[in-house]
Amino acid sequence: MSRSHKGDPAVKGEVAAGAGAVEETRRGDGGEATGGLAQAVGVWLERTEAELATASTLAELVKVLVPRLYALGVVILQAVLEQRDGKWRDPKQQVACPKCDEPMKKKKNRIAIKRKTRIGEVTHNRTLWECEACGHAGAPVDAELQVGHGANRHESGFVSLLLHMVTALQFAKGCELFERSTGIAVSTQLAQGLVDQVGGEMFAAEMARAEEVWQLQFDRPELFLPGGERFVGRPRPGTVYLMEDNSKVGIHEGPRGRGAPEGKRTHYLDRLGKHEKGKRVKADKTGAGHWHDDGADDRPDEEMGPSGFKDVRALILFRAVDLKEGKGGRKYIERKVIRTHIGTAEEWKKLVHLALYEAGVFWAQRIVIIADGGQGIWELMQELLPQTPGRTVVQILDWCHAVSHLWKVATAYKGSKTPQQRSAARKWLSSLLDELHAGHPSVVLQRLRNCPTDKAVASDFADTLRKCIDYFDKHSERMLYGRFRKAGLLIASGPIESVHAWAIQPRLRLPGMRWSVAGANRMLRLRCSWASETWDADIASTLDALLRKPVKRKEGAAM
Ligand SMILES: [Zn+2]
Repeated sequence: MSRSHKGDPAVKGEVAAGAGAVEETRRGDGGEATGGLAQAVGVWLERTEAELATASTLAELVKVLVPRLYALGVVILQAVLEQRDGKWRDPKQQVACPKCDEPMKKKKNRIAIKRKTRIGEVTHNRTLWECEACGHAGAPVDAELQVGHGANRHESGFVSLLLHMVTALQFAKGCELFERSTGIAVSTQLAQGLVDQVGGEMFAAEMARAEEVWQLQFDRPELFLPGGERFVGRPRPGTVYLMEDNSKVGIHEGPRGRGAPEGKRTHYLDRLGKHEKGKRVKADKTGAGHWHDDGADDRPDEEMGPSGFKDVRALILFRAVDLKEGKGGRKYIERKVIRTHIGTAEEWKKLVHLALYEAGVFWAQRIVIIADGGQGIWELMQELLPQTPGRTVVQILDWCHAVSHLWKVATAYKGSKTPQQRSAARKWLSSLLDELHAGHPSVVLQRLRNCPTDKAVASDFADTLRKCIDYFDKHSERMLYGRFRKAGLLIASGPIESVHAWAIQPRLRLPGMRWSVAGANRMLRLRCSWASETWDADIASTLDALLRKPVKRKEGAAM
C-alpha cells in the first residue's frame, strides 16, 4: 500500500485552509500571519485526532501518524511561503531587475508553481514582477528562496535525495525506494528528467573545465610542473596512485523502449543476431575474470556502429596515505577521485588531465601508475606525466593481468580439461609466478622462450605463447615486482577493477539495458560523484550553476 499523500483531498483541504487563513489575516491587520498558521494547525490537529481514533495497535497508530506528520509539514511550509511572498505584493516595494538593475514593476499576484520537497508537494504562490526596461519577469521571492525552474523548481534536498536513489538503483526501483522512505510518490519521468538535467550539467561543466585547463598548460606551463616556490604553502602530495582501465556498456542510439515508434523496432531475427553478437562480446570481455582483454580488441568504437558495446574509460586517483586498513585487515581507500567517460580518446585525455590538475597530481613527488597492457594507456600517461626532475613516475603492469597471460599459456600447454591437466598447469604456472613475484621477468621470459611448442595440448599454443612472449617483452620494465614490493608499492589494480565492478557495471550494464552515449555519460557523472563521496558538494554546485543559467521559457508557459 502506498503511503503517498499525493492527491489526498484532506491534505489539499488543509493546505487551502491554511493558505486562505494566512491571506485573510494579512488583509485584516497586516501583522498576524501566525494566527493563520495556528488556525491551519488547528484544522490539522482535529483531523489527525479523528484519524488516530480509528487506530488501535501501535503499528496502526504509526501508520496513521507518518503521513499526518508530513501533512503538518506541508501546512506549515505552505503558510510560511505565503508569508515570505507577502512583502512583494506591495506595489510600492523597490525591486531592481536582476538582469539590468532597472526598477521593476509589480505585474501579477499569486502565480502558482508546484514544488516538491522532502515533506511533500506544496503549491507556491508568488507575486510576479516585470522589468519595463528589458522585459525580464520573475518573482522576487524565488531569488530569496533560491528556487527557480527545471531541477531548481523543487527543493534541493528533494532533488538530491531522489537523484541519489535513482543513481544507486534503476529508475523504477529508485523511485519506489524514494516513495517508501519519504511517503512521496514520484514518477520515473521526473527522476529521469532530473538525471538528464543535473547529470547533463555536470557533464557539460566537466568538459568545459577540461578544455579550459588543457589550454592553461600552454599559457602557464609552470602550473603543471612539480615542486618549486610556486607551491610554497601548498603541501606536495607524496605518493599518488593512478589506475586506469576500461569496461563495456551496451549503447543503443535512437528511440527505444515503450516510446519507440513501431517501425524502428528490430525484427526478432535481427535481435537474435544482436543477442549472439552481444554474447560473443561479453565472452571476449569477461575472459579470465577481467573486464577486457588487454587491448587485444583495440578496434575504435566507431567500428561498432552507433549501437553495440562501447568502452567506458575509468580512472581512479588516490594518495598512498589514504590507503587505510580496516577491521580484519581489509584495505580501503579513504579519499579517492573517480572519473569515467564514454567518448573519444582526445576527450578522455583532457578529462584525465583535468583530474590530475584538480587533485594536485602534477606536483606530487612520486606517481605510481598501475594499468593493463593496453598501449593507449601508457602513451597517454607518458604524454601527460613525463618523468621530470623532482617527479618520479613509476609504471607498473597490473599483477593480475600478467598472471592471466601466463595462465592462458599454462592451460594451452598443459591442458585444462581434466583435474590432472589443471593441476599440472597450476604447478607449471606457480614456479613462473615465484620468479615473477621476486621481480625476475627476464627469467620468466627465458622460460617461455624455452617452451617446446610441439608438446602442447592446444592447437593454438604457439600463437598463445608468442602473444605472451611479446607481452612480457614489451612490459618487462613494468614487471619489476620485487623492486616495487620492496618500495612498499601496490602492484595490482584492484581499485580500478572494483570501480568497474560496482561503480559502473551494476547501474549501466543490466540485462536488456541500453543507453545513448549522452545518457550513459550523464549517469556516469552521477555515479562518479557517488563513488568519489563528493555527492553533496557536487549536487549543490550543479544546482547552483543551473540556477544561474538563463532559462529558455516556452511562450505562454506558466512561471
Ligand atoms: Zn531588466
